[in-house]
Amino acid sequence: MNPRPENRGAAIDLDTVSKAYGAFKALDGVSLRIEPGEFMTLLGPSGSGKTTTLNVIAGFTDVTSGKLSVGGKSVVGVPAHKRNIGVVFQHYALFPHMTVGRNVAYPLTLRGIAQDERKKRVAKALDMVKMGDFAHRYPSELSGGQQQRVALARAIVFDPPLLLMDEPLGALDKKLREWLQLEIKRIHRELGTTFVYVTHDQEEALVLSDRIAVFNRGRIEQIGTGRQLYDEPATLFVGRFIGDSTVLRGEAKSDGSSTALTVAGETVAAPRRLNGEASPVMLLRPEKLAIRRPGQDAAGTNRLSGTIAEAIYLGSGSKYEVRLGDGSTAIVRSPLAGESFGLGDKVELGFDGADAKLLPDDSTAD
Ligand code: ATP
Repeated sequence: MNPRPENRGAAIDLDTVSKAYGAFKALDGVSLRIEPGEFMTLLGPSGSGKTTTLNVIAGFTDVTSGKLSVGGKSVVGVPAHKRNIGVVFQHYALFPHMTVGRNVAYPLTLRGIAQDERKKRVAKALDMVKMGDFAHRYPSELSGGQQQRVALARAIVFDPPLLLMDEPLGALDKKLREWLQLEIKRIHRELGTTFVYVTHDQEEALVLSDRIAVFNRGRIEQIGTGRQLYDEPATLFVGRFIGDSTVLRGEAKSDGSSTALTVAGETVAAPRRLNGEASPVMLLRPEKLAIRRPGQDAAGTNRLSGTIAEAIYLGSGSKYEVRLGDGSTAIVRSPLAGESFGLGDKVELGFDGADAKLLPDDSTAD
């Protein structure tokens, strides 16, 4: 976790929170503890419940059941404007008829802060987002990225213990988004406030977060650091959602004393004991697969044979899609110094059983 200047952020506790719209459960028993000062990202596909969770924390949406506290106090039934939470949305929502300075001052005006103090705080917040020279401009005179930085200044100007952001960079182009991600990370570090951030972009989640909660169909599948989610996905859904992966359907055959596992038509060493699963799924990360020409010494105890179906030059190396014997596809990354392969080349992939993850097949629930 990032070092914090002071422990100023609020803890958040969601305890089996559900939100139903008629018979449909937008949230289905979500439990999540966010530590003071933590950067927590809610990640998941469209419709998985991220925004609903954020709206529940903000007070824009009531819960159907469950408990919710911010800073150790229950906020169930407390209206949004009494929660003292900063919020930034994807669409800037700046007041078009107010200058940048007045936009940022607005939350302080609402709170009855005297003018001298207001000026100081507005200047500080605008400096924090590097918009100090723009106080007299109107929103229409700013680029999308600049408007979003002003929205951020307005959300932090009253020193909230918690900042909620819903896809704040979603409308910006990739370069700007990547730069602003680093800016948001810096601001989080400097403020020490708890940040809760919604995105469907796994790379963005990995760049920003102390921890990530992966949402699927109104539930949290797993909560962990980016590394934990990448290295130890608890479910196939999480494994596929974070990073590139090769997913191979396995077949386990037991002859009483031992169990053999077959993937892509070839027998491999199972990475763990099979607990009676007949058809587990094997997940492999691209960098755990070594690619060689057939017959060459390949790393790893297991071998899969295939043919290059796609070769993508990435600058820092190459990425290959390899068609395996049973028609499934493996994704391999090879460093710049490695041998290069062309379409149709026959190759062998080597991997250690310990580097593979065996997971229950939940893909029918996709
Ligand atoms: P996105 O990235 O598309 O915003 P999300 O993960 O944030 O997705 P939510 O906005 O939380 O998803 O929505 C979760 C589910 O709840 C969706 O299926 C959505 O259609 C449904 N939902 C949200 N608000 C309402 C509402 N007011 N009435 C009915 N259904 C709703």
